[in-house]
Amino acid sequence: MKYYSTNKKAPLASLEEAVVKGLAGDRGLYMPERIDMIDEEVIADMKNHSFQEIACVVARAFFEEDIEPEVLDEIVRDTLSFETPVVHVEDNIYSLELFHGPTLAFKDVGARFMARLLGYFIRKEGLRQVNVLVATSGDTGSAVANGFLGVEGIHVYVLYPKGKVSPIQECQFTTLGRNITALEIDGTFDDCQALVKAAFMDKALNEHMTLTSANSINVARFLPQAFYYFNAYAQLDREGKADELVVCVPSGNFGNLTAGVFAYWMGLPVKRFVAANNRNDVFCEYLRTGVYTPRPSVQTLANAMDVGDPSNFARIYDLFDGFTKPFELICQLISAHRFTDEDIVRTMRRVYEATGYVLDPHGACGFQGLVEALTPGEIGVFLETAHPAKFKSVVDDVLGIDLEIPPTLRAFLDGQKQSVELGPDFEGFKAYLLSR
Ligand SMILES: *Cc1c(COP(=O)(O)O)cnc(C)c1O
Repeated sequence: MKYYSTNKKAPLASLEEAVVKGLAGDRGLYMPERIDMIDEEVIADMKNHSFQEIACVVARAFFEEDIEPEVLDEIVRDTLSFETPVVHVEDNIYSLELFHGPTLAFKDVGARFMARLLGYFIRKEGLRQVNVLVATSGDTGSAVANGFLGVEGIHVYVLYPKGKVSPIQECQFTTLGRNITALEIDGTFDDCQALVKAAFMDKALNEHMTLTSANSINVARFLPQAFYYFNAYAQLDREGKADELVVCVPSGNFGNLTAGVFAYWMGLPVKRFVAANNRNDVFCEYLRTGVYTPRPSVQTLANAMDVGDPSNFARIYDLFDGFTKPFELICQLISAHRFTDEDIVRTMRRVYEATGYVLDPHGACGFQGLVEALTPGEIGVFLETAHPAKFKSVVDDVLGIDLEIPPTLRAFLDGQKQSVELGPDFEGFKAYLLSR
C-alpha cells in the first residue's frame, strides 16, 4: 500500500518511508491510498473473538501488503498485552477504558505498535540507528518512552520542560534508562517543541543521525487506534447493545477520533461520533461556522487536550474531500461539544456521587459529551483515555478522596531519576546530539 500526503505535493511513500519520515516532505500528513472494508459477516462475528484476534483482522486490512501475516500478527499480539474493557457507568452510557497499558493511557497502543513496526523495518533493512525525538508536556513522553523501551536499533530522546511536568508523569520517562534519554529543558513545552522542529530542519544533524518523530502524525501511531473501536463494538454486541452506537472521543490533536472515523470507513457499525473539546474548541467552531481557525492553546484541567491547532484535522478533512459537500458530510457524522473546567469538575462530582465511577478530567468531557448528544434509544460509549490516578492531584481535590495509585504507576515512582539538563537554545541541543 502506498501513502500520499494530505498536501498532495509530495511523492507517494511506502509504509516504511511513511513510518520512518513521520511527516511528508511537503509538511502534509500521510494517508493510506485505500481504506479496505472488512466483511460484514466478519464484523458480526467479532463478538466471538478476543481483542488480539479482532486487532489482527483490522491490522491486516491496512498492512498485509507490506508485512508478512505471521510477523504482523506477532507485532499486534505483542502490542496488545492488555485489555480495553467496556464498563457500564450509568443509564445508556458506557466507558471504554483505554488505560490498562503500561503507562495507563490510550497512547500506549499506538506507541507500542509503532515501536515494534519500526524495529521490524530496521532489522529487515539493516538500517542504521533511528533516533526518535519527542517533546512532551507529560503523557506522550511516557507512552513513547515505554513503548520503545528495549527496542533494538532505536534511541529515544524525550524533551520536557523542567519543573512543569507532574512528578507522576516525569518518573514514567526519567527512570527507564537503557535506550531512553530524558532531556530536561530549562524552558517551556513550546521551547521543547521548537527544539525538536529545528532539529528536523538541521542539515548537519540529519547527516549525522537518522531522526524521526513519534507523535500522532505518524501513521503507525494513529492507525492502530482503530483496533479498540472494533473491540468496543464486539463487547457491546455481545450484550446486544450495539445497534445504535454513538462514540464520544475526548479530543486534542484528533488522532483518536481520526482512527475512529477510519474504523467507520472500514465498516464499523457506529451511527455517529461526538468530539468532546475543552476550552480549546477550534473543532467545535469549525462545525458551527465551516471555517477552521487555529488559535494559541489555553491551559485546562484536561491538559492533554490543550491543543489550539489539531494536526489530525487535515486527515479528517481529507477523508471527506473529493465528495461534493465535504463539510455537510462531516457535520452529519460528527458533532462536537465544548466543556469548561467548571463543567469538568461538575461532571466528575456528579458521576462519582451517583455511581462511584471515578472519571479523569478527559473522560469527564467524553461522558458529558454523551449526556448532551444522546437521543432516546441510542447507546453511548466514551473513550476513557487515561487512568484517573495519572491526574491524582486534580481528582483528589475535586472528589475529596485519596485515590489509590495502581502498582504499575507506583513502580515508576520508586525508580531512580536520570536526566540530562539542557538550556532552551538550539546550539546547545545540537552540540549535545552531535556528541552522541
Ligand atoms: C493525548 C490525549 C488525549 C487527546 O487525544 P488526541 O488523539 O490527541 O485527540 C486525550 N486524553 C488523554 C489522556 C491524552 O493523553
